Amino acid sequence: MPATTTSIGLRALQDRQVAFIDLSCRRCDTCRDGGPLWCPVRDGDRELGLVAPAALAEQLRDALLCAAGIDEALPRTFDPAPVLITGATARAVALFTHAGVEPIIADIPESEVRARLAERHESGRAGLVIATDDLRQAVKAVRRGSTVVGAPGAALPSVTEVVQREVAIVVPRSIDALVERVTGVRWDAAIAALHTEDAA
Ligand SMILES: [Zn+2]
Repeated sequence: MPATTTSIGLRALQDRQVAFIDLSCRRCDTCRDGGPLWCPVRDGDRELGLVAPAALAEQLRDALLCAAGIDEALPRTFDPAPVLITGATARAVALFTHAGVEPIIADIPESEVRARLAERHESGRAGLVIATDDLRQAVKAVRRGSTVVGAPGAALPSVTEVVQREVAIVVPRSIDALVERVTGVRWDAAIAALHTEDAA
């Protein structure tokens, strides 16, 4: 990813809770060009209505970024199905995606992931892979000419790996539409899913 500093900020609340804040200025060229997530000014202060335990804030932020990346990638990917989500926050990312996507979540044995991919596409590979942790693995799992989405900070593949597989790596540009979609039930479900993973 080009940078790891986004315009998603956190504000400490009582009882070890944090509120997610949109810091984008909404005035600069980057914001007006549809990429407020990478606003370099970051003097905004807009409550997003998303509150979470502080201990889960980083994971939820990564999940939000990955889900926003899916929104960005879907219209640009010729044949995105099946969608594969990998990494520690995959369950949360899946909860944040559009209802119609029906992703395969790679928190099951690898042989099972392969079987499910093969069921849905003759190539046995995904058309769109989302990696919360490791984009190198994601590049290997995607079909030639397809799309990979990663959270800022995820391990990057080499240029050779990207070129050889003709893969496009997509970064999210905005979380505006996503926030509208996840506020409430899906947000609470994602917190519950991450709690469960921590306990497991
Ligand atoms: Zn800006």
